[in-house]
Amino acid sequence: MQNREINHQPSCEDELNSGLLTVAEAQGRILDGVTALTEAETLPLREGIGRVLATEIVSPIDVPSHTNSAMDGYAVRAGDLPEEGVREFPVPGTSWAGRPWLTAIEPGQAVQIMTGGMMPEGADTVIMQEQVEREADTVRIGSGHKAGQIVRAAGEDVATGQAVLAPGKHLSAADIGVLASLGLAEVSVFRRLKVAFFSTGDELRAVGEPLGPGEIHDSNRYTLYGMLKKLDVEIIDMGVVKDRRELVERAFRDAAACADVIITSGGVSVGEADFVKETLEKIGRMAFWKIAMKPGRPVTFGQIDDAVFFGLPGNPVSVMVTFFQFVRQALLKMSGETGTAGVYAVRARTTTALRKRPGRYEFQRGVLEQPEPGEFTVRSVGAQGSGILRSMSEANCFIMLEPDQAGIDAGQQVLVQPFQNLI
Ligand code: AMP
Ligand code: MG
Repeated sequence: MQNREINHQPSCEDELNSGLLTVAEAQGRILDGVTALTEAETLPLREGIGRVLATEIVSPIDVPSHTNSAMDGYAVRAGDLPEEGVREFPVPGTSWAGRPWLTAIEPGQAVQIMTGGMMPEGADTVIMQEQVEREADTVRIGSGHKAGQIVRAAGEDVATGQAVLAPGKHLSAADIGVLASLGLAEVSVFRRLKVAFFSTGDELRAVGEPLGPGEIHDSNRYTLYGMLKKLDVEIIDMGVVKDRRELVERAFRDAAACADVIITSGGVSVGEADFVKETLEKIGRMAFWKIAMKPGRPVTFGQIDDAVFFGLPGNPVSVMVTFFQFVRQALLKMSGETGTAGVYAVRARTTTALRKRPGRYEFQRGVLEQPEPGEFTVRSVGAQGSGILRSMSEANCFIMLEPDQAGIDAGQQVLVQPFQNLI
């Protein structure tokens, strides 16, 4: 059981945390601090998939364009149907899908009709093929049918002049299909956001290079690249920047000249070699926040010229968590997107005990599973250190633990944020 008693006792954690921003506050400030781009481009319809719609779509036509049959059968006038017994109808012809029967139906006639076939003028009801007896040029139809049945009205999917899609919609396969059904060959979408990113640190070596003493491979540029790739932004990889004042400043200026957004990792702690804050203060505007969260406490948010700046922590797990919790939604907003972008929280029963001290919001790495449809369990991936990148690789969700929560026993319900297809 969670020990609620502890939460009300003053503790040194509280002291440490005074002046820290909550996760929600930081998210709010970041979202308020960015604006959506407005430049649009026109693309052939298929290239619009995954992009953000820039204009409202108003239908130029009715879909379907004509009243038609929802099944194979016979089109009749409802008034001709027998109230009891059976009536014989002459069949003058067939209305095929795309090859309509263009003669108006005469009283007492039944025109054979295929699914999608246009209703002949005067007909208002379709009798299923399986419910009639066909004999040469006549068909026998019984009673009990409803007037107007099995007919799809012109414009029942989308009517002429109807607003179909709003700007800001992330275009899905269904959206592209809807636009195609309207006959639109092109679509206007917001241009892609340009995102430049680089790593900072003297200890970082490129992949493929051997490590000297005290060196590590630069993994953040790969995780960031992967997460940006999912967002369909234009990615500008600026490599690794050494911990030298002039090099950091030059990299910042270069990035600001070509990108809408700059993301760095590392160099935001208070170590002597951390020039990110200092440089941002010198050439741009900056807010430096310590956020009451684990992992990923220090985050820098600011601006250089017209570019928005995110300085993420260097630890490999922290960079992923802070990107997902703060940067991702901001990039979507800047890209013009208005939706929730696939982030949900679900309740799951933890099958492992979760260790936590009250004080900070924790995003622990977990594996969400569904033992029965609609029933969710989650288990911790184990070691939760901010340097243990394997924990992210094994996980498919964050277990979201509120600041005041303490350790959680197995069997308890927790909130979980799945990220499987998002990063
Ligand atoms: P820093 O914020 O620069 O003090 O970095 C914090 C920790 O993250 C240090 O252990 C760094 O070595 C590590 N780190 C920083 N950048 C990277 C990176 N690009 N890839 C892997 N680890 C990194
Ligand atoms: Mg560093």
